[in-house]
Amino acid sequence: MMTGIAASDGIAIGKVLLLKKEIPVIMRTVISDSEIKPHIKVLEDAIEKSIFQLKNIQSDSDPEMIKILDSHIMMLEDIEFLNEIRLKIEEGKQDAVSAADETIRFFADMFRGMKNEYMKERSEDITDIGYRLIMNMLGREIHSLRSIKEPVVIVAHDITPSDTAQMKKNLVLGFLTDIGGRTSHAAIMARSLEIPAVLGLGNISSLVQDGDTLCFDGAEGTIIINPDPKTIQKYSKKNLQLQKEKDLLCIFKDHSSISADGHRVQICANIGIPSDAKRADEYGAEGIGLYRTEFLYMDRAGFPSEDEQFEAYKIVLETMGNRPVIIRTLDIGGDKNLPYLSIPEEANPFLGYRAMRIFLDRPEIFKVQLRALLRASIYGKLRIMYPMISCVEEVRAANLILEECIQELDAEGIKYCSEFEKGIMIEIPSAAIAADLIADEVDFFSIGTNDLIQYTCAVDRMNEKIAGLYNPFNPAVLRLIKNVIDVAHDNGIWCGMCGETAGDSRLIPLYLGMGLDEFSMSASSMLRARKLISRLSYEKMRLMSEKVLKIKTSDDIKFFIAQNSISENPL
Ligand code: PEP
Ligand code: MG
Repeated sequence: MMTGIAASDGIAIGKVLLLKKEIPVIMRTVISDSEIKPHIKVLEDAIEKSIFQLKNIQSDSDPEMIKILDSHIMMLEDIEFLNEIRLKIEEGKQDAVSAADETIRFFADMFRGMKNEYMKERSEDITDIGYRLIMNMLGREIHSLRSIKEPVVIVAHDITPSDTAQMKKNLVLGFLTDIGGRTSHAAIMARSLEIPAVLGLGNISSLVQDGDTLCFDGAEGTIIINPDPKTIQKYSKKNLQLQKEKDLLCIFKDHSSISADGHRVQICANIGIPSDAKRADEYGAEGIGLYRTEFLYMDRAGFPSEDEQFEAYKIVLETMGNRPVIIRTLDIGGDKNLPYLSIPEEANPFLGYRAMRIFLDRPEIFKVQLRALLRASIYGKLRIMYPMISCVEEVRAANLILEECIQELDAEGIKYCSEFEKGIMIEIPSAAIAADLIADEVDFFSIGTNDLIQYTCAVDRMNEKIAGLYNPFNPAVLRLIKNVIDVAHDNGIWCGMCGETAGDSRLIPLYLGMGLDEFSMSASSMLRARKLISRLSYEKMRLMSEKVLKIKTSDDIKFFIAQNSISENPL
């Protein structure tokens, strides 16, 4: 058995299709003056051909893939990139292929050397574009996943964005790679296509051959090569079981979320890209509890325009119709960097210049997003949410800028819906403690436990060494959550939660008892959560939550909740 990075849930059992890439051997040669022109022509023709091929792949890709491939086309059209190659040919008298190869490697290495995980993984995109360009310069054929005829498990050193764009969900049972992490495009696309995937396996592509059998569990990251019949049976059984659970949960799709004794809550979805809204809808979301807009800003050379943002927000609002959509304003910084923002390196980026701190410092970029949001508001039920709020002054300053945008749109005669709600994420302890001082300024709170836990317990959420201390059962965290919910209700506003723990079946009974109004989680967790809530008594959970807040240790809290609710097996 091998273990890798669990990138996308699901069981896959099938024959291997090894995705081999021809690695061309490139020799640097010196060219004469008369050869310069023909070499420039080779470069230009290959760029044209590559763009043509990418546009062709885009023609039957989903919107997110179209966006990724757009960024590839943009790079092929990038003047700086092209000039770099031309310079090598014209002044360095270098042949076109090696000039392109060196330039691609230079840019890929530059990205790979960046500290930020997300930027590191963008080096894969550069290598992907470069490979296409070089193969076209050499007049060689590029493999295509479109020609797959029977269901297979794809194994590759790496899966590129253009590979995923060509995958057909019914023929690709799953995929495994040597490299890649949870935030690589391959992982993001696997989750969005609901194809099981395990990445970062090291050398899987040299351990298996075409026709080998593989079975793997994408939720656990475990893989078995050429399993015996008993193992295949075990995985098939688990797969059937998962499928059965999924099917059984379908009956909860059109239900509202009500406890056994009639207490109503909302179960909503967290999304990252506009096309996720469709999936959320298919899984019966009562709304979008968190649309992380960061993806719109990433993987590009500059800020997205107001029109571009407007189009993305409009898609989500239209998909959800009259159900609420919380769109969070840009939460950049920490582990998410935008190179074009040129933020100097900081000793403590999670405590640094990020999110609202950047926007309040540079209102001109904040206003572009707010205007796009306001314009999109006529297409659905918009809720605007500010992240990383630490005090009332920040909320007031953000609301003032929002007010300015409203006045601008009024003056320009641009339509918007004035009935949108505005709220904040409670993810910094100072905001959780002083929530009563902030409540007046907003229509709702949404608790971001991912950050609230890290800041309350002083535990870096990215550091595996101290992962044991990152504990959602910590009594201090639970007391803060309870305070925020109570303060919201005392002030006549509602309180949701969009951190990962909102979908944790061990904690849902407690949060329900504490009075949480809205639970926002990944789309695939929603039906399970709705079923669990339907089996719980709100009144009993309320009494249980009062007792929990007096327990001293997280282990005792965990045990007490498990004993006093039915969370042990929600199905
Ligand atoms: C959170 O902090 O809980 C949250 C939902 O935001 P993010 O994970 O994007 O920081
Ligand atoms: Mg957060």
